[in-house]
Amino acid sequence: MKKVKTKQKVNTVVEKLYSIGQASKKLKLSAPTLRMYEHHGVLIPYKTKSGRRYYSDADIVRIQCMRHMIKEVGLNLEGIRRLFALLPCWEIKPCSTKDRKHCPVYLDSSKPCWTFSRVACRKDGMQCKTCEVYLMSSTCTDRLKTILQGIGYLQADKK
Ligand code: SF4
Repeated sequence: MKKVKTKQKVNTVVEKLYSIGQASKKLKLSAPTLRMYEHHGVLIPYKTKSGRRYYSDADIVRIQCMRHMIKEVGLNLEGIRRLFALLPCWEIKPCSTKDRKHCPVYLDSSKPCWTFSRVACRKDGMQCKTCEVYLMSSTCTDRLKTILQGIGYLQADKK
């Protein structure tokens, strides 16, 4: 498997990475489709300084989940993006009340936090791809309710 130097460090763990061609083949999707997912803000591939994209096994699973949501549940990319946008990153992280007041993510729930260009949490050098908020959205979006319940954001169903 090809080892590449990516912009984003993956702690000290060396992940298997696939080029866009290899990922397309594995997923039976075209390269433009993978780029479109990125363009819509539902996927963050690794990128080298020269702009080459690479995908991890976790990215492959994320894409398979989104394909499931598109083919079996009937969502489109905008629908998936809106679902991701519902993740309350300020609760998951969590952020202070003061930070929330000025955070564009807290004020606009139309897109996922990682698609905003200026957010306080990224100024700390934190990278979205390895952030727990982004990783949470990698579990199939139809499990969003369970995730929200898990962080106490929704009341669990009474049995
Ligand atoms: S680091 Fe990125 S993914 Fe994590 S909460 Fe901040 S904007 Fe969202």
